[in-house]
Amino acid sequence: MAASGGSSAPDVEARVLVAAARRQYLNAIREVATTGTACELELTFDGLPEAQREHYLVQFVSDPVQDGAAGVLAIYFNITARKLAEAKLRERESFLESLLDTIPIPVFSKDRAGRYLHLNRAFQEFLGVPRERFVGKTVFETGPHELTQTYFEMDEELFARGGIQRYEFKVKSAQNGVRDVEFSKAVFHDDQGRQAGLIGAILDITERKRAELEQRAQFEQILRLNRTLEDKASQLSEARTQLMTVLHTIPDIVWLKSTAGTFLLCNQSFERFVGRSKAEILGKTDHDIFDADLADFFRQRDRAAIDVMQVSVNDEWVIAPTTRERTLLETRLLPVFDSGGMVASVLGVARDITERHHFNERLARREHEFRTLVENSPDTVARYGRDFRRIYVNPTFASLSIGGADALLSRAPSEFPGGPGTVLYEKQIREVFATASDREFELTWPATDGRQLCHLIRLTPELGANGTVETVLAVGRDISELQASRGKIHRMAYFDALTTLPNRVLFNEHLRQAVSVSSPDHVTAVMMIDMDRFKGVNDTMGHAVGDELLCEAARRLLACVRPGDTVARFGGDEFAVLMPEVSDRDVLEQISATMISRLDEPFLLDGREVFISCSVGIALFPDDSREPKDLLRYADSAMYLAKRSGRRGFRFYTKDLTIEATARLSLESELRRAIDQGELEVHYQPQVLLRDAEVIGSEALLRWNRPGVGFIHPAQFVPLAEETGLIVDIGRWVLREACRSAAQWNTVSGRRHRVSINLSARQFQSRDLAILVKDILAETGCRPEWLAFEITESLLLAEDESAMSALLAFESIGISIAIDDFGTGYSALSYLTRFPIDTLKIDRTFVQQVTTDRRHAELVKAILSIARCLGQRVVAEGVETTEQAAFLEAHGCEVAQGFLYSKPLPKSAIVLLPRHLHPDELCRDNESDRRSHDQP
Ligand code: C2E
Ligand code: CA
Ligand code: CA
Repeated sequence: MAASGGSSAPDVEARVLVAAARRQYLNAIREVATTGTACELELTFDGLPEAQREHYLVQFVSDPVQDGAAGVLAIYFNITARKLAEAKLRERESFLESLLDTIPIPVFSKDRAGRYLHLNRAFQEFLGVPRERFVGKTVFETGPHELTQTYFEMDEELFARGGIQRYEFKVKSAQNGVRDVEFSKAVFHDDQGRQAGLIGAILDITERKRAELEQRAQFEQILRLNRTLEDKASQLSEARTQLMTVLHTIPDIVWLKSTAGTFLLCNQSFERFVGRSKAEILGKTDHDIFDADLADFFRQRDRAAIDVMQVSVNDEWVIAPTTRERTLLETRLLPVFDSGGMVASVLGVARDITERHHFNERLARREHEFRTLVENSPDTVARYGRDFRRIYVNPTFASLSIGGADALLSRAPSEFPGGPGTVLYEKQIREVFATASDREFELTWPATDGRQLCHLIRLTPELGANGTVETVLAVGRDISELQASRGKIHRMAYFDALTTLPNRVLFNEHLRQAVSVSSPDHVTAVMMIDMDRFKGVNDTMGHAVGDELLCEAARRLLACVRPGDTVARFGGDEFAVLMPEVSDRDVLEQISATMISRLDEPFLLDGREVFISCSVGIALFPDDSREPKDLLRYADSAMYLAKRSGRRGFRFYTKDLTIEATARLSLESELRRAIDQGELEVHYQPQVLLRDAEVIGSEALLRWNRPGVGFIHPAQFVPLAEETGLIVDIGRWVLREACRSAAQWNTVSGRRHRVSINLSARQFQSRDLAILVKDILAETGCRPEWLAFEITESLLLAEDESAMSALLAFESIGISIAIDDFGTGYSALSYLTRFPIDTLKIDRTFVQQVTTDRRHAELVKAILSIARCLGQRVVAEGVETTEQAAFLEAHGCEVAQGFLYSKPLPKSAIVLLPRHLHPDELCRDNESDRRSHDQP
């Protein structure tokens, strides 16, 4: 179709075109006409009815062919068919789009280059992004970055493989967070069959997945459950077997009964109890098994348990079906419930507690007995709790305490009665709680009456069920008397009753101690002290005075020693002193000298002054010995040495003394034997008138003719015989011998020969000395005037009654009494007038020095003048030289005795003596005799 410019064909256009299109059409023509530039325009003949409407593409070009004015050529191309096809397509697309939007599944499509084409509403909602953000863009532009590569690769794979691609993925949704999704994608092609793009859907499979997982978990749980059920089942059957075994082994009677009363289960004890087998029991009722009464009773009990629906416990006496014995059953009935909570059966457990019952009865009886015992016990009984407070006290305890039970109960010892003793007491209780062991100790405490009581307390732990100490029982026995007598025994065992000084036992203990701790630069001294004249005092003045003397001597000795020293009395007049830690001998010498001088001082006894003295022997540790026993022995030896060497002195031990002491011991035993064996002899030493040396008598002197040794002199054994009392027997023998000799000599020769006999103080101790003398006189035919007795001053000193009466008896029968060793004692001369004494024998120590020592000469002269005044005879002893004899004679002494005239001679020699002994002739003989005499 061709159109001319301007209004060349207005009619046609006006008919087929509406105003707007026409205006458009005309504008294009005008444009081309003015510019000359061609243009195109699509025209729809919309002025025509719908069905006739056609579509054209109109090309406008200038047409120079027209005259002057510019002409426009319009060329029409009919595009109606194309337009219709396009409209159709648009419709289809819109339909599809709407269709997709109605699907709740996100759907998308991409072209072959990966650019998004379509996204449905669900897709936009799923991602929360408007479609404009995606359309025309690749995944690389839309993100998310971490996934873009995967998306790209999956897409490429789909293009390469074709078909339908499905895979699961995780995607973050706008509303529900990360979701499990399944992508389903397929390729679409263009009309030439080329790959044009892909279309995909996103299926949210989160729920499905969860359901799947849950299902799996459930399945596994069921599997597990099944397994545990299987285990349980096997355990249960095991447990059931075990349970049955246990049920059979326990001594309790066990059964299970239905509520209707039939037995469902029972153990062997039950079988034994009823005396039937299980087969005879199960399925039966009480009435089938027991007596009617008992069965009724059991049923009634079951019903009660069913009614209360809980455990019931009863102690019941029944007659046992088999033994027919009264039996006490402790029965527990336990209702067993079914799943509906109803009682289905009753489990019964019964225990035969007959024995226990009897035991409890006995226990109660016993407890009652014990309680009675405790309540009436003379012992104190208390029970202490963990806080040391008393829970119980018995009446004895209550009665001894001030305030009684009220004061004692609920209080600890330290709270009542309190005091330091109770603190120790509580310590003991604590120990018992801690160690669960017994404890015993002594406790001194004041009683109500103020007495100090001594109790032996025994604490015993009382254990609870778990083995710990719950309470402590304290039983106290009054040992006050025991304590007192123990003290007494201790004193008796360790102390001398008379002086209260330690005795030998305690001394030895102290000695052992001292020796064990002594320091090396010091010595420990053991002293033995012997009272030189004690025996005389004791024998003559009586034991009471002797005791007094010993007590006073003890006091004096104590005053001489240091505080740590021990003064002990071993018995008799034997004292010992222990002096530990002495620096040197000088100290000991000083102390010994002090002791001696203290004991030298007069003792005022029974209103009279008495003199004794002491000898001290000292042994040293460790110098002399390290052995306590030896030390004592050595000190003893040293003491004897002191005694022998003039008394009133002290001596330290030397080794030689041991030998002597040993000799002494053997001497004693041999002396005893000597008497029996007749080894003793009496020798006689003549006494002469100084005037003409006429023999007028002799002194009987004892000799011991010891086999293998020869004659032993009295100085060596008489002191020992006096100490041991042997002198009494010996003295009696001497008396008889001497009387016999006197009788013999006086009857044979017509001349008077008076025999002097030495009497020991010991001999006066027996009250019948006078009788003995008379008997012997009668027996031997000796006349009293043929005898003289020589006594020592100590005898007179004691002023003993028996000595006095004996002396008076001797006087009355006419026996002369001489004081021997006159001048050596301490006595006052007053006794010379009080006693029947007619002769004094001047001691030879004076006699022997009359010619050399003026003082002795004066003393002898004084004695002679006293004797003259008192009308007493004097015998001078130990006259050895003619000078001595001359001196004595010149001063009025009448009788002499001594080696100058004769040594002591055997009995047989006396009768051979001439009437007068001539000193000048005898002197030489006597000299030689004396030498041999001095060395026996
Ligand atoms: P006594 O009674 O003083 O006896 C005298 C002692 O002096 C005797 O020693 C005698 O041998 C000794 N004597 C005599 N003349 C001399 C002399 O010129 N020079 C020296 N140096 N000594 C002389 P004896 O026999 O050894 O007796 C010693 C003591 O033993 C006696 O001393 C006496 O106390 C005691 N005694 C002796 N026989 C008995 C006895 O039968 N009974 C008792 N109780 N004692 C006796
Ligand atoms: Ca004599
Ligand atoms: Ca004498």
